[in-house]
Order: sequence, then C-alpha cells, then structure tokens
Amino acid sequence: MNVTCRVRAPRLPSSCVLQRGTNPGRDHDVNLAPSCVTRRGRVLTFALTAAVAVTCAPTAYAQARLQSYPTRYYVIRTDLDLDAVREATVRITAMAEEYHARTRGFAGSVTDRLEFYIFRHPADYYANGGPQGSAGVFVGDRLLAIGGDRVSPETWHIVQHEGFHQFAHHVIGGDIPTWVDEGLAEYFGESLFTGDGYVSGVISQNRLQRVRYLIQNKQFKTIAQLMTIDRITWNQQLSGANYDQAWSMVQFLAHGEGGRYQKAFSGFISDVAKWSRWQDAWKKHFGADAGAFESAWRDYWTSVPDNPTADLYVEAVVRTLTGYLGRAAARKQTFETAEAFFDAARGGRLERHAEDWLPADLLTDALGPAPQLGRWLIEDASATRGKLVLTLPGDRRVVGVYTVRNGRIGDVTIEDASKPGASAPQRTARPGTQPIERGRPRPTKPPVKRP
Ligand SMILES: [Zn+2]
Repeated sequence: MNVTCRVRAPRLPSSCVLQRGTNPGRDHDVNLAPSCVTRRGRVLTFALTAAVAVTCAPTAYAQARLQSYPTRYYVIRTDLDLDAVREATVRITAMAEEYHARTRGFAGSVTDRLEFYIFRHPADYYANGGPQGSAGVFVGDRLLAIGGDRVSPETWHIVQHEGFHQFAHHVIGGDIPTWVDEGLAEYFGESLFTGDGYVSGVISQNRLQRVRYLIQNKQFKTIAQLMTIDRITWNQQLSGANYDQAWSMVQFLAHGEGGRYQKAFSGFISDVAKWSRWQDAWKKHFGADAGAFESAWRDYWTSVPDNPTADLYVEAVVRTLTGYLGRAAARKQTFETAEAFFDAARGGRLERHAEDWLPADLLTDALGPAPQLGRWLIEDASATRGKLVLTLPGDRRVVGVYTVRNGRIGDVTIEDASKPGASAPQRTARPGTQPIERGRPRPTKPPVKRP
C-alpha cells in the first residue's frame, strides 16, 4: 500500500515494543502502561454494517485467516469477530483524528490508509512479527496487536500508544528524539475514548503516584540523560521508568503550569520535524539552562495535587452520554427528563442509526459513575441540537452539546460554564484541555510516496 507522507528518515523496523515494566512503584491497576498484559476484553453484540467491504488478506497472513476491512484511515486486518471489528473501527477512526488534531502544528496528514493487524491468537501475532512478551508493536509500516477473545482496555492503551508511532512515522519529519516519540505515544495511550473522540491530557492517579515515587527515590534519569537516549539504547534497556519519565516530560510540556511551555514545546518539535538538530532546537526554545528546566519539571510533579485531572474524567463521562443522547435524538427519540434518558439507557432502549454504533460497554462505563457526579438536565433539545448538562457540587456546569446531521449524530462538543446560565463556552487552564499546539504551519517538505 502506498502511503503519502512527509519526508522522514528511515526508522528502525521496530519503533517500540511495550513490555512488562519493572518499576518498584508500579501497581497492578489498569492504565499502568507500559505493560503488555494480554488480558481478554469484551465481546460486543452488534452486526457489521453493510458498508464495510471485506477483501482478501495478504498471503503472508493467510494462516490466521485474516479478513480486511478498509476504514477511513486504516485497513484493519483481523480474524476477530465482527463486533470487535466495529469497535476497532470506531476507536481507531477517532484515534487518528485525535492524533491529527493534537499534532497539527508539526505533523502532516495521513492521506492513505495505514495497516492495522489485530490477531485473536497470540501465536499468530508472534508468527507475524510481534515480539515475544509484547501485546502490541509498530513494526515496519504495520501496527500489530493481540486482540484475544475480547479486546481489553489495556490492549486499547497499547494500540493508542503504538498507533502514534505509526502515525508519527508517516507524517512527522525529521529525527524526533526517542523521549518525545515515547512520551507522546504514552500521552495518547492514556487518552479516554468517548465514542465520538478522545479526551487527552489525562493524569491517572496511579501514574501520578508512580511518578512521585520515582522522583522521590531518585530512580529517574536526569533530563539531560533521558534526552540523549537513542532508539537502540531505549529498546535494549527497556525500562518502565523511562516510559514514565518521557510521559511526565510530555505531559508537563503540553499542560504544566497552565500551558506555559506548550508553544515552546510545539516549536521545538516543529523545528526538529524540519530537520533541525534537536539540541539546537531545544536551546532555541528552552534555553541552555537544563538545570532550571529540570527543577521546574520536578517541582511540578512533586506539587501537583491528587487526581489533578478529575475534571477530564468528568468531561469524558459527559461527552460519552451526550453522544448517546444525540444518537437517540437523531432517531427522534426524546426524553422529558435526564432521568428518563438514564432509565432508557440502563434498560437498553436507546435508539441510534445503524451506522452510529458504539460499543455497549462504553455506555455501561459512563452510566456507572454518572449519578454520583451531580445533577443532570437535558436543555434546549431540538431535532438538530441539544444539551446534556451536568451541574457539579459548587454549581459548576459541564455542558455536552450534540448536533444532528442528516439523521445521524454530528458533533459532540463540551462547554464548561462555571455558573448556571453562562452561555459562552469556557476553557479553564486545567491540565489537558488544550491541544499540544494549533495553528502553526506544517513542515514544508514535499510529500513523497513510500514504496
Ligand atoms: Zn513506544
């Protein structure tokens, strides 16, 4: 398959392999990337849409009896059942759009479909290039993953991580430093799927505690040391602490201190993507005093409070439920109250267009915490637009807005209004709400065709 891409240097065949970490501070909850636990996830209960074409897989993969499903940005090659294919389709479509949205200042666009192989059986994954002990990898130009009988949240984290390497390989030029490549991959690995998109910039409490532990126990490298690890050394010395540190750097640069470093970080990547030496680009945007920057990074992580992005988890719930409300509205299903909507959701009575499918567990996971978050209201619902409003303790309102287009769900957006009645969408300076960068020109290297 030819993929039009921005110029970049050839990379190692295996950009990254997520493997089990050995951090002393690591616990065993979810989202403890990087790990490659191949848990079995969920089986969903929907049929494949007729619009999805099925073609033959390459012969090299015939042993696994893969079928191919062209989607907007990827060709999925898999032996998973059709319900799993549908979940993979909606997730990776939204994933690609999140990559594009958050990197538009320094990345190009995917203009042809990327290859995504997801295998039911680990043996087929290993036989087709997946390293032993891993559950997902970007190798060559392919994204590979083990789906198992049910694809787990941990596997989706890995796919989001490895998928970023694949995306970067195709659309970001220059020689991106390994810590940036891995830190951004983990940044996207942490992102929360909401059905119509992702919420990025999330700091899980587990990961925050791990970063604090590693800083306090002096188990991270210095920033200068981390920055000079090349790809070969990174892969030879796979270390969970390195992934945590790279992620903590990217998270800090993208959202720390109210987004203070965001512009410089984007400028740094943009220059590197245009083939500047990373050392020169760093000095240009951050200065030569590595010690001062390291102090700011350390101070941030040792002072950030518990659950610092709790509002992003709330936003994810509101976005998810608004998407379901919008789907019902698109089918002219209306509700007198939010409680009636929740009752229908719990009872499996929500309607949707056949092509607006979402995985059932997504709704279940959003409904679980919803009643405890605050008071819910449906506002200004019409045939084409409506709002699902959550009023949190303290009267802060989080407003999900859906639009309907041609009988299908359109956009799902969020407004964060601090007071009842506030109408203008507001964005606070809380972590994670802003793109890494927007509006910068793309690298000017001409697109080339990959063989
Ligand atoms: Zn990686």
